[in-house]
Amino acid sequence: MSPLPKMETFRNEPYRDFSLPSHRQAMEEALAKVRSQLGQEYDLWIHGERVKGSGVFASLNPSHPSEIVGLHQKADPALAARAVESAHRYFKSWSRTPYEERVHLTLQAARLLRERKDEFNAWLILEAGKNWPEAEADTSEAIDFCEYYARQMVRFASPEPLVQMPGEHDELVYLPLGAGVIIPPWNFPLAILVGMTMAALVAGNTVVIKPSSDTPTIAAKFVELLLEAGFPSQAVNLLTGSGSVVGDALVEHPLTRFVSFTGSKDVGLRINELAARPQKGQIWIKRVVAEMGGKDAIVVDHETDLDQAVAGVVVSAYGFQGQKCSACSRAIVDSKVYDEFLDRLKARVVGLRQGPAEEYGNDLGPVINERARKTILNYIEIGKGEGRLVCGGGVPPGEGYFVEPTVFAEIEPRHRLFQEEIFGPVLAVTRARDFDHALELANDSEYGLTGAVYTKNPEKIARAKQEFFVGNLYINRKCTGAMVGAHPFGGFHLSGTDSKAGGPDYLLQFLQAKSIATKL
Ligand code: NAP
Repeated sequence: MSPLPKMETFRNEPYRDFSLPSHRQAMEEALAKVRSQLGQEYDLWIHGERVKGSGVFASLNPSHPSEIVGLHQKADPALAARAVESAHRYFKSWSRTPYEERVHLTLQAARLLRERKDEFNAWLILEAGKNWPEAEADTSEAIDFCEYYARQMVRFASPEPLVQMPGEHDELVYLPLGAGVIIPPWNFPLAILVGMTMAALVAGNTVVIKPSSDTPTIAAKFVELLLEAGFPSQAVNLLTGSGSVVGDALVEHPLTRFVSFTGSKDVGLRINELAARPQKGQIWIKRVVAEMGGKDAIVVDHETDLDQAVAGVVVSAYGFQGQKCSACSRAIVDSKVYDEFLDRLKARVVGLRQGPAEEYGNDLGPVINERARKTILNYIEIGKGEGRLVCGGGVPPGEGYFVEPTVFAEIEPRHRLFQEEIFGPVLAVTRARDFDHALELANDSEYGLTGAVYTKNPEKIARAKQEFFVGNLYINRKCTGAMVGAHPFGGFHLSGTDSKAGGPDYLLQFLQAKSIATKL
């Protein structure tokens, strides 16, 4: 048995500073290296073996869709069943592997990710269309999840201080659940994939990873890294292919013990419903962690530094082209500063630089695919009927899936732009009569993921803390960029199960507690 590795107190992975020539050059070299690997074919990985599907599909570079990033196997329901059965078979062995060994391997994975940070950044830039700083944040968060959950596992493996009955030794131990299905989205194709996978594995579960069909290469690269780190090949299965083809088979399989999903509301609710129906031979209630969409608001009070508020709204609304569940898609502004806010906002937004993600210095890149672009452009048309277009709304020239950063003013609560998740660079601005009204508007949503308030008034801050109903509230700062360990992440209402990824309780989603009383 390997001893528990020495671990210092957790600290977040520092970001590279790309204004330094050495960091910039390293990134350029990684991009060139990764470019030379584009177009390769990847296999499924089931029960420690490479497996072919019924055909292949291509993942594309959203900045240059004529460029194929990777070719991936199309799995079918039979292969999905095989993957779950394989994960189930290996569970006994992996769950009995000493936790010290699992922690050690998790830290090894962190070490390899750190060594290859530029390379993973490059895959994120080329397959997901992240600009350099966004890619750097994604990879850093992936490293943070490994480091943080490794430490949390040590905590859950340590004895719980229980009341001791006279004449007994009383214990509470945490056991893993079984074979789980990991379904991440494309928008944090590394961080969320790594977070959900490593939490499950370090806790002693085996997994079937079903990555997003937009970003399967990043998942394939991560699975390669796990094997290199020393994880047993049968603990991890990789099943690429369309979610609509294999999703139900994975979720409904009687040997699936849990599903860890991050993605849209519709898919999350479907998974929740299907998982709740017991299948023939199933002897447990499946556990579902579903983290879903958002319609996040920033409240701008009149008692604030307006430039700071505008800067916070811009970075929250247009970072990664607004394709974050935490993105600000509603700015709710006190009428006393509304016009001034809009003027300053417009001045900043029209100055944003948009272009291919691999070009250093671009503020915005493309959206993920043509379907997403069409959906966003459709919302822009809807917005023209509902409110007033302040800026943007068009499609910049170029091969990529670009949509201009767009602002609509005079949006009201009954409007679709106020209520529906757009998941693109479109911001709705709404006028509030006063702070009470602003909080009421902010809470007028079926979602409850992130939110922010800009105000200098301590009483209003106290009220926001109590009344703004979101899982992640930020005061006088942007509403994106949750940091592992500092901002445990997860939303209320239809934003999900509030599992608080990157928080001290997250591993409990992947564990079950067993109470043991021994008569002395
Ligand atoms: P999505 O369309 O729901 O897809 C998410 C994942 O589910 C993908 O891997 C997808 O595979 C798979 N899937 C699709 N249909 C399925 C089915 N019937 N059964 C099982 N799996 C299925 O979401 P997305 O477009 O990738 O991601 C964007 C959404 O994620 C937004 O709504 C965003 O707000 C949300 N999100 C939430 C959080 C959070 O923490 N709350 C974080 C990030 C993103 P295919 O690609 O093959 O369809």
